[in-house]
This record gives sequence, structure tokens and C-alpha cells, in this order.
Amino acid sequence: MTEETATTTTGVRAGSTTSFTVPMEEVVEWRRHLHAHPELSFREFETADFIEELLREWGITTVRLTPTSVIGTIAGTAGDPETGRVVGFRADIDALPVQEETGLEFASRNPGVMHACGHDVHTAMLLGTAKILQSMRDQLHGKVVCIFQHAEESLPGGARELVAAGAADELDEVYAFHVAPHPVGHVGICRGRVSTMSGIVSIGIRGRGGHSSNPQLSVDPVLVASEATMLLNTIVSRNLDPRHMNIVNVGALHSGEVGNVIPDTARLEVSIRSVDESDWESICHRIETLVNGVCAAHGAQANFEWQIPYPMVVNADRASDRAWHAAVKAIGEHRVFAAEPWSPSDDFSYFSREVPGCYMFLGGGGPEVGMPFFLHNSRFDVVERAMNAGVRVEVQIALDALAPGFPAAPEMPQDCENRMEPAGTLPPRPVKPGFGTPQSKAAEVVKRKL
Ligand SMILES: [Zn+2]
Ligand SMILES: [Zn+2]
Repeated sequence: MTEETATTTTGVRAGSTTSFTVPMEEVVEWRRHLHAHPELSFREFETADFIEELLREWGITTVRLTPTSVIGTIAGTAGDPETGRVVGFRADIDALPVQEETGLEFASRNPGVMHACGHDVHTAMLLGTAKILQSMRDQLHGKVVCIFQHAEESLPGGARELVAAGAADELDEVYAFHVAPHPVGHVGICRGRVSTMSGIVSIGIRGRGGHSSNPQLSVDPVLVASEATMLLNTIVSRNLDPRHMNIVNVGALHSGEVGNVIPDTARLEVSIRSVDESDWESICHRIETLVNGVCAAHGAQANFEWQIPYPMVVNADRASDRAWHAAVKAIGEHRVFAAEPWSPSDDFSYFSREVPGCYMFLGGGGPEVGMPFFLHNSRFDVVERAMNAGVRVEVQIALDALAPGFPAAPEMPQDCENRMEPAGTLPPRPVKPGFGTPQSKAAEVVKRKL
């Protein structure tokens, strides 16, 4: 693998250029190390040590605001430090409780734990960015704060903790990447809302256990939890405006051990996503009403443990504009696309609601390059050369944000032709011409039947 060099304008003065080299061999090596040694949320001890050791080796000051997160600060030497600005980058570092099935030679060595959401990629890219920017301090008027955040995957999340501990206090702008199954090395940016808000509720159902030969003496929590699951799936289709994006998903249902015992309890884990706060309220209300209703019908009791939800990520115009123009400079206009919001959520929102932020998508490859699996799948993978684009864009954002005079970026184009469907969108099916109009064949069939 060769090192790739980008020559790019800094946006400071017309004609001025900056070149830097992305150490791709190392970035890939770090990514593979992280991928082979994934750790679950709030338990990223070895991952944090690995990151901190590298940052220190390069002379970057580090701090651990929580046991398993690392923040590295690069102090620029261009201009008066008192008047400098501070730009932050967030990489999430945790993995998921998924048994990896990729068959990769650097597959997870921790059984049941996998980097199935690309956080190994985000981390390796930000390490590359940190290493490059540390060597370019003379071009930075201010500081770059590299936030290696723990526990993105598990509510209440690591970002909330870090922001409470002051991680966003100094920042003027903040950025983050998430890989998505878009074309390799393409970068998607959108203005405004970019993710859903999401939350989890754990529902405990208490029945009365007993012998399966005498069900009349018991209250079966398996039956109650099953009915509740069916009813919860009616909330989106029957209680909410069909034009709104809402999701209620029962992701776990646990009860019982053997066939001849009626257990005492059952537990449901329900994930909720929405883009509308009043819909959110309705969903929460309906969950309690439906579950309490089915419990009352059977003589069971329910209790609800609501997790603090992740807010929506809403990109700030100023940061999206900066990201757009930096990406165009770093990887070329044809690789930058206007992104649509997607249905996952991210606790990056805790940072981006404190300071102007932009959450960007990095294409890691989809079915066209033999990668048909979406995030969180046990066979999810990313084409590694995509990381080159991610690092280049991050470096360019820092160079632009901390350029002398702090010039604001022009607005990103509003009518950009290079658009892309949100990640996860199914391929379109052929639609018959005229379908759904009075001239359509469907309408003719109805008329004939009448
Ligand atoms: Zn994830
Ligand atoms: Zn993720």
C-alpha cells in the first residue's frame, strides 16, 4: 500500500496550497488492530490505552475525563494563542455485542463482541488526522481537540458524560464522521436535521409462575409479553401521522427457561426513534397504555425503565458549509454529495447542541463492491481505502477552521445535483407508468369491476 498525498488549497489566501500525506499504511494497521480487539461500551479500557499511547508518542497532550475516553489536544503555533479558535473532532470507539461472521483475517478476537458499526474506522481516521495535524501546528491558529468518545452504542451514552465533564466547553465547532454504505470514499453532508432522536425502554412484566400442566393457577408472562409485542407494533401504523418518520422496535423478549414451567417474569427491550417531539410523547404514552392494558387483562403487572434518550443530531449551517467546502477541496467535488437524514441516531448530538457541529457520512462501500450488509450486521465491513478520504476531509476542516483570520465558508449549494438516498434505502422497484393516476391500469380494473 502506498502513502497518498493530497495537495489542497487552505482557503486562506487565493492560490495558497498545503500538502500533507495520509499515512494510509498506519491508518489501516490501527483500524485492523482495533477491529481485532473490540470492547463494549463503557469497557473500552485497552482501546483507550492504545489511543492514548499513540497520541503521547506524537507529543499530543492527552486527558481522560472518564475512565475509557481519551481527549488529545493539538496546540497550533500560528498566531496568538489567546485569540485562536478551537475545532473539535469526535470519533466513537466502542463496539457491539455481536458475534462477528466476516471471516476477515483481522476479525474480532473477543467472542461475542464486534466493531459492527465502523467505530474502528472512525477511530483510526481520527488518529491519522491527529498525527498529520500535530506535524502542521505552524498552520493552525488555535487548537484541535480530538475526542475519542466511549459508549456511543449504549444509552445514556458517553457523549453526555463527556459534555457534562466539560469536553465541549472550549470548542467553537465540532465535527464527526459515520461510515455508511455509500460509494467508497464519497462524503455526504446535509444541512439541518441528520439523525433521529432515539431511546430505549425496558419493560418488566410480572405474572405468576407455575406448572405447565395447571395453567389456570398461573399468569403467563410469555403470553402477556407476546401480546404486548404485537400491540406495540400497532403504534406507528395506528396512532401516528403516516407522513412522519417513527419507529417502535421490540428488539429483545426474554422469558422462561424450559417448556414445562410457566415463568414468573418476562422482559421486553423496546427502541423508539422519532423526528418529532410530540410524536415522541405520544409513543411513550401509548407504550405504557398498551402494556398496562394487556397486563390488566391478564392479571399481570408491568414496570417501565425509561433511558434518557439521545437527541436528534441537527447540523449547524455554518459547520455544514465549512465541511462541504473542505470536502470539495480535499477529495474533489464529484465525491461530495448532498446527504439526506438517516434513521439511526448518535449521541454526537450532545456535542452539536452545545456548539455548531456537522455530522458527516463517509461512503465505506455498498452492494456494488460486494458489501451488502448494513451497520450492526455480523458481516458488516468497510472498504479501507475510504479512510483516506475521511482523514483528508478532517485535516482540511481543521486547516480551514483555524486559518488566520478565520474566514467563514460560503454556503454549500442548495440545489446540488450530486444527491444520494439515505443509507439503508432499498433499491427502487419498477413502477408501472401511470400507476396511481386516473389513467392507470389499476383504475381501469376497478372501473370494470364496478
Ligand atoms: Zn451503531
Ligand atoms: Zn455507529
